[in-house]
Amino acid sequence: MKELLKKAKFFHLLERSEILEILSDSSFNEELFKSADEVRKKYVGDDVHLRALIEFSNYCRCNCKYCGIRSENSHIERYRLNKDKILEIAKGAVGFGYKTIVMQSGEDLTFRAEYLAEIISEIKKLNVAITLSIGERSYEEYKILKEAGADRFLLRIETTDKDLYQNMHPNADYENRKRCLYDLKKLGYETGTGCLVGLPGQTIETLADDILFFKDLDADMIGIGPLIPHPQTPLKDFTHGNFMLALKVMALTRLLLPDINIPATTAMETLNPKGRIIALQSGANVVMPNVTAEDVRSKYEIYPNKVGVNYDELSENLKKIGRTVSKGMGFRNKRRNI
Ligand code: SAH
Repeated sequence: MKELLKKAKFFHLLERSEILEILSDSSFNEELFKSADEVRKKYVGDDVHLRALIEFSNYCRCNCKYCGIRSENSHIERYRLNKDKILEIAKGAVGFGYKTIVMQSGEDLTFRAEYLAEIISEIKKLNVAITLSIGERSYEEYKILKEAGADRFLLRIETTDKDLYQNMHPNADYENRKRCLYDLKKLGYETGTGCLVGLPGQTIETLADDILFFKDLDADMIGIGPLIPHPQTPLKDFTHGNFMLALKVMALTRLLLPDINIPATTAMETLNPKGRIIALQSGANVVMPNVTAEDVRSKYEIYPNKVGVNYDELSENLKKIGRTVSKGMGFRNKRRNI
């Protein structure tokens, strides 16, 4: 096992069977996390990039079985923020020092690409990077958004097990999700993807395939989070994903893709009160605090008890573990020959 970890740490390559060996053995977890932390330090340094997350609409045409804002959930109040409100929140976040604005929503087609493009070009005037997380669109729409100034796009593959994917996402198409990711790459977006850990029927084989998919895509950002069952979804009676397993998938991702950006996800912090700091010490280098206005935040409930971030407390805690809040926009600094 020590040899395997050494190989991953220095060559950033592992066979599927080797990933499985690491995932199925918990006696070397501490070494795994330490190796991921060292690789993080070597390739992306001690800076932590803070991305301001604005959840601008919880309308969604999708019906993902795990997600609280799925179209069939009639118990939630739906909202949409308009351009002025989004800009006001973005300006506030920039005033606070954020260098990236993340615009996330359900799959809300009322936000046509042209309208989103107007918002994007206004936000770009604030001299920040923009990340979109709005789901599946056509190549042409992604192109309009890119040309308006969007820099990055987050679209988790969720799982690379095609049957599981189809089961979890009624009316959605796995091939289309993949098509979106390759289109985003082609258009020059920094492309983020990732997976949920703990989907019903998911195996460690699937998780190994997920990690290899990230490498194959050459993703620029990877978000990994444990599943947190939402009471108003078909998965309400399932248990939540395993925190340690999610952390291991994240650490392995850092070892294989050493120079990418990896967030300490909110879902990890929601499951473990120290989850964010533990993740930052096991390969992560990004935090995405929610800056959405308080009055609508509670309505964007993809899972229950989603925790927030206290900016000052976070900076303090980062300092305590020898990390710094980044002053830059935090693009991927791609290294050659790795
Ligand atoms: N509509 C956008 C944004 C989705 S929300 C899109 O399709 O990309 C962002 C992420 O939250 C999803 O990709 C999913 O992985 C995660 N998520 C949704 N429901 C969840 C749950 N119950 N527990 C944990 N994570 C969840």
